[in-house]
Amino acid sequence: MPRNDAPIAANPIFGSEPITVPRNELSADGLDSDVAYQIVHDELMLDGNARLNLATFVTTWGEPHVRRLMADSLDKNMIDKDEYPRTAELEQRCVNMLGDLWHAPEPVGCSTTGSSEACMLAGLALKRRWQHRRRADGLSTERPNIVMGVNVQICWEKFANYWDVEARLVPMSGERLHLGAAEAVALCDENTIGVVAVLGSTFDGSYEPVAEICAALDRLQAERGLDIPVHVDGASGAMIAPFCDPDLVWDFQLPRVASINTSGHKYGLVFPGVGWALWRDRAALPEDLVFRVNYLGGDMPTFALNFSRPGGQVIAQYYQFLRLGRAGYTRVQQVCREVATSLSAGIAALGCFDLLTDGSQLPVFAFVVKPGEPFSVFDVSAALREAGWLVPAYTFPKDREDVAALRIVVRNGFSHDLAGLLLDDLTRALERLRKQTAPVRGSEAAGFAHGT
Ligand SMILES: *Cc1c(COP(=O)(O)O)cnc(C)c1O
Repeated sequence: MPRNDAPIAANPIFGSEPITVPRNELSADGLDSDVAYQIVHDELMLDGNARLNLATFVTTWGEPHVRRLMADSLDKNMIDKDEYPRTAELEQRCVNMLGDLWHAPEPVGCSTTGSSEACMLAGLALKRRWQHRRRADGLSTERPNIVMGVNVQICWEKFANYWDVEARLVPMSGERLHLGAAEAVALCDENTIGVVAVLGSTFDGSYEPVAEICAALDRLQAERGLDIPVHVDGASGAMIAPFCDPDLVWDFQLPRVASINTSGHKYGLVFPGVGWALWRDRAALPEDLVFRVNYLGGDMPTFALNFSRPGGQVIAQYYQFLRLGRAGYTRVQQVCREVATSLSAGIAALGCFDLLTDGSQLPVFAFVVKPGEPFSVFDVSAALREAGWLVPAYTFPKDREDVAALRIVVRNGFSHDLAGLLLDDLTRALERLRKQTAPVRGSEAAGFAHGT
């Protein structure tokens, strides 16, 4: 879009003189705080309604107490552990709680700004461990690679690109829309720093078979001597599976799982700005990646890409752990799963959609339009947009580009009642879409936004 430099005109809503201020330069004198607030507030009214955004995985509802604690701690900098030792202690307790939840023998870890940063750190630890092993054996460290499904979140492609690691992506094939164990092992060699298994694919909410991938890598080690660690990207699922699927073995109970990340701001139930990276023990996190900084007055071990960042999100995470406990998280996630599975059943019953997933893993499901219908998933997405709902439509990656799907992410605060209203709006939209003679919108209408 061309840049708009027209001045911003503020109506005299406070009885003051009408004014204009420059749009893209600092104004010479600044503004009265009420007028400035109103200008910013009014512009933001045009943003979407976060609660109706069914594209995002990120928390859009929280108790007033979460907001209050975050407001109370707006002035606290997470990095300043010497000045805010209690905040640092709460961070450590959160790491310990997650370590317990994920069965880590000797957890070490840290908070991050989100899963993206956590994945960068976990990927770096894999790369560094591989380099140490190779150097010790007098072998080349020139060409590291990392194996994962083509469905990985974009942060993994960034990791590979930014840190010069070859991304070996297993394509989707037929009904398999995420990483398979045999396909992962087939791409591994002596230069593989690790395999990434995603607990909860952003494309369709399905769990990748972490235990099968680990077992296949165990066989690879027995046969060819290659010892390749696994990182579990549990951005969403690491806060769903422990509560809703207690019998699923996907975490540090598998000795091959070296590290796990999650987004505190997804099913960790905190507002945007917090993620977690955990390693099973000290051996999995090379000591030479940990910095000891003392220029804020104390000796702080840190492993992070950012320096300063807000403390409030970590404090809110601790609050949620304290407030909800296991039973509370189980209730919240179980209701999300029930809403997702009953909504997906309602959508399937409309007759013109096929479900790819039904919301029984992550409370997230994807569905396609049946062949022969006179409308596309992009038409459906646009029609729902008219009613205020944001339901993204996107095509799948390489080798299944033929699949164009809609996806719904059910989060805390999306009730059975709201799901019913969405189904009503969808039913009404279909009456109109069924009268089309052919689909109007093609795949150029929307790209996959990676669930952010
Ligand atoms: C959301 C997501 C990420 C990125 O997480 P952020 O917290 O948004 O940085 C990475 N991996 C998966 C599987 C995700 O769903």
